[in-house]
Amino acid sequence: MGYCCVCKEGFRGNPYLSHPDLGCKDINECDDGKHRCSRRCHNVEGNYTCSCPPGYRGDGYIDGSGCKFPFMEISLGISVAFLFVFTFVSTLCWGHKQRSLKQLRKKYFEQNGGNYMLQQMYQQQGHTDRAKIFSEDELRTATNNFDENRILGRGGQGTVYEGILPDNTHVAIKKSRIGGDPRQIKDFINEVAVLSQINHRNVVKLFGCCLETEVPLLVYEYVDNGTLLEHIDPLKNEHPLSWEIRLRIAVETAEAISYLHSAAAIPIIHRDIKSANILLDHNHRAKVSDFGASRLVPLDETQVTTVVQGTLGYLDPEYLLTGQLNEKSDVYSFGVVLVELVTGNKAVDFNKPEQRNLAMHFASSLKEDNLWEILDKRVLHQKNEEQLKEVAFLARKCIRVNGEERPTMKEVAMELEGLISMKKHPWGKREDMMSEECEYLLGHVADGYGNASASTSTVYDSIQREVAFEIEDGR
Ligand code: ATP
Ligand code: MG
Repeated sequence: MGYCCVCKEGFRGNPYLSHPDLGCKDINECDDGKHRCSRRCHNVEGNYTCSCPPGYRGDGYIDGSGCKFPFMEISLGISVAFLFVFTFVSTLCWGHKQRSLKQLRKKYFEQNGGNYMLQQMYQQQGHTDRAKIFSEDELRTATNNFDENRILGRGGQGTVYEGILPDNTHVAIKKSRIGGDPRQIKDFINEVAVLSQINHRNVVKLFGCCLETEVPLLVYEYVDNGTLLEHIDPLKNEHPLSWEIRLRIAVETAEAISYLHSAAAIPIIHRDIKSANILLDHNHRAKVSDFGASRLVPLDETQVTTVVQGTLGYLDPEYLLTGQLNEKSDVYSFGVVLVELVTGNKAVDFNKPEQRNLAMHFASSLKEDNLWEILDKRVLHQKNEEQLKEVAFLARKCIRVNGEERPTMKEVAMELEGLISMKKHPWGKREDMMSEECEYLLGHVADGYGNASASTSTVYDSIQREVAFEIEDGR
């Protein structure tokens, strides 16, 4: 019937007393372990509160969200930060690398005569065919980063890669080897500038070059059917080229070399004529390649002294002994190619001791009247034996030791053209001509191997007239 006292929740003691120590006193839940805090407990008057240590997330109550360490967020944060730092550092490195690459490319460009090249190009303004300067990136893309599988071959002057430019032009890219000699570089640039302007269907077109690389890269037209050497060599090709094709290749090559010697603005001596440098397209059309060693001869000079360069077996002996280079050195080398065409043998063959040097073996066979023994039996027929014989005699004239006695390339080309046209026109066939006139025209037959220059010039004059007549005739 009276009243009853109780302490408020969170207080403990004698509710009937008001003494601060004996009456209702706040319970420290945090100390007596009755709290429901997961990490931190804070006692307050009549109650307690929970909290989380710094860095933790949650309300701190066991039956609430508790205290959780934000692993995900932190790892995400760390990753983002790391990524940011990584991106920043790599951008810095990339920028640095690009700058050094740019500087290196600039250095190579200057070292490879790029400024001189630009000067030359400036002078050639208006020429549609002037050399193009390719960037390294362009050529890297074209060759799939100079992929090993794109290698077409390796020669004395570098490695050749097959490539496709963005406009789908099929190209052969040659990594040439030249040192940093300024004179050599000037010559190289001149050659690039002149050769890129040569537009002859039987000369491999030089599209341009790239000078940003340590060694300059040359970009040529791609020729798809290998080299003449591969087609002649019985070990490399089971199906020998027919005589008609061989003769046409000889004519085309002779025309191209003759053009380089005389028709181009500055005479160009190829210096490395050989069957490996005569490329063939899918129609067996010849394309003379590899002007890496070629020399431009100033018009007022007929001979230039150079370091002897060329390929064994094709090298003009006179040039080898004197170092004096002129057009006749190319005539000699071409003569050896003619010998290869008529005999089907390689210029140098270490497997055949008796004819290691084909030119020498050929000359001595002719001297001993053994021509028929060395002609290529795979193509020799009754119908063409006369032509083979005449080409053999012409080859003999080309490989004379004394350069002055060799015919010029123009004369060689005309004599070969004459052989083809004689075949085309029955009225021009040798057997149909008066034998006397025939002997007169083909002076070399009259005197064995043709050594009188007077008779030789008559031959060419006659043939020239004949060719001119054929053109009028609509050939
Ligand atoms: P050298 O350097 O003594 O002339 P080589 O003629 O054998 O020797 P390269 O001119 O470097 O060497 O050519 C190597 C090979 O690359 C050639 O044998 C040929 O097969 C290929 N090649 C060169 N130029 C072209 C081209 N324009 N198109 C297609 N293939 C080519
Ligand atoms: Mg070559």
